[in-house]
Amino acid sequence: MRCPYCGHKKTRVIDTSHDTRGGTRRRRVCDGCQQRFSSYERPILATPMLIKRDGTREEYSREKLISGLWVACAKRPISTADVDRIVGEIEAELQQIGRSEVKSRYVGDLAIRKLKELDEVAYVRYAIVYLGLSDLESIRNEIDTLLGE
Ligand SMILES: [Zn+2]
Repeated sequence: MRCPYCGHKKTRVIDTSHDTRGGTRRRRVCDGCQQRFSSYERPILATPMLIKRDGTREEYSREKLISGLWVACAKRPISTADVDRIVGEIEAELQQIGRSEVKSRYVGDLAIRKLKELDEVAYVRYAIVYLGLSDLESIRNEIDTLLGE
């Protein structure tokens, strides 16, 4: 690894520690300028490709999921930490199923389930967009189901 201070190519590892999440932290010293710095390595788990309704594939996008959630959560008492947690849980479930492809609907269903536990208004908004509830009848059915629970 190159030295971030002087760009020297040779740095030495002087200490290595592991954390419980599978990460490895290394203390390093530069052979050129003698500055010390740390590097952190973590495993990147594969997230399956998403199969869209029209049959095309797209890569899972954290940004896309987050922006969809924020649209639904606008002006609701929901914190960045709540949204981060939901995204983290969805990603963990995607990685745990260990498949190379899943229907994109799978991600939407997970998001809907998480929002339902968090905030009913955000849930209904997300459901309207995601389930394509375009008529009042189906929106009312969804809300009636919610109120009945
Ligand atoms: Zn250096």
